[in-house]
Amino acid sequence: MINFLKKMDIIYWVMLTILVLLVSIIGILAWLGNNHINSLNKKIELLSSNITLLETTSASTTAELKESITQTHSDLSIALNKEKQNVGEIEELLGTVKKQNEEISGTVTTLQKLSDIDPELLQKYSKVFFLSEHYAPARMTEIPDDYEYFESKFSKLESQAYPYLENMLKASTADDLEIYVYSAYRSYEEQLALKSQYTVVYGSGTANQFSADQGYSEHQLGTAVDLMTTGIGGNLDNFDGTEAYQWLLNNAYKFGFVLSYPQDNKYYVYEPWHWRFVGVKLATYLHNNNKNFYDLEQREIDEYLVNLFE
Ligand SMILES: [Zn+2]
Repeated sequence: MINFLKKMDIIYWVMLTILVLLVSIIGILAWLGNNHINSLNKKIELLSSNITLLETTSASTTAELKESITQTHSDLSIALNKEKQNVGEIEELLGTVKKQNEEISGTVTTLQKLSDIDPELLQKYSKVFFLSEHYAPARMTEIPDDYEYFESKFSKLESQAYPYLENMLKASTADDLEIYVYSAYRSYEEQLALKSQYTVVYGSGTANQFSADQGYSEHQLGTAVDLMTTGIGGNLDNFDGTEAYQWLLNNAYKFGFVLSYPQDNKYYVYEPWHWRFVGVKLATYLHNNNKNFYDLEQREIDEYLVNLFE
């Protein structure tokens, strides 16, 4: 019994000791835990304040960055506009230079052409203005026999005007007509001889009417032709009743030829056979406006000189 009691006592003390130990451990653990929580709280506080700081810094940095980007963008826009303006100015300048260059080359071309074209070729020859007796075309082309009314007459025409005559005669052939060159270039001496011949036959009064000075000047130029067709026995006076004449009235201008002395003109006798080369541009203008070469002022005619062979 006593043993039993002793045992109980020992158990009691052991239990008590364990209890005390447990309580102590719990206490220590609680203290440690509390300490740890405090430390964690402090860390959290520190982190929070760091985050706030970061947020503030970040916000201000973002704002600065945004402002900086806006500024840069605006600077770039200004610079770009300036460049665009510069490019525009350069383009404008280039355009001006190009235009000036074109104008200069145009003037040079015009001068070049004018220097090559004999201004006599578009002169009006009146009762008071004659072509110099010493004048002769610089270049002449012999008209082939096929186009001549009198074969082997060796008529000549000013070389640059000749292709226009040839094309006109070919076109008339294509329209089933026969138009021939009756007379073309005549030198001053030839004309004198012709005139004295007429004078002998008809007397000076009549000779002056159909072989006088205006017509002669145009033949001496080398750009006038007297034309003839078949069926009228080579009589120039009957030429205006022919289909060939009607065809010429409707088509000669396309090849640069005009009737110098039309019916009822104030300048000379009517010469339906006498056609003068004045260039396609002027001939077309005269045809479209129903005007005659001798109706125009000389200065108006001179504007067409540069385009004479175009
Ligand atoms: Zn003539």
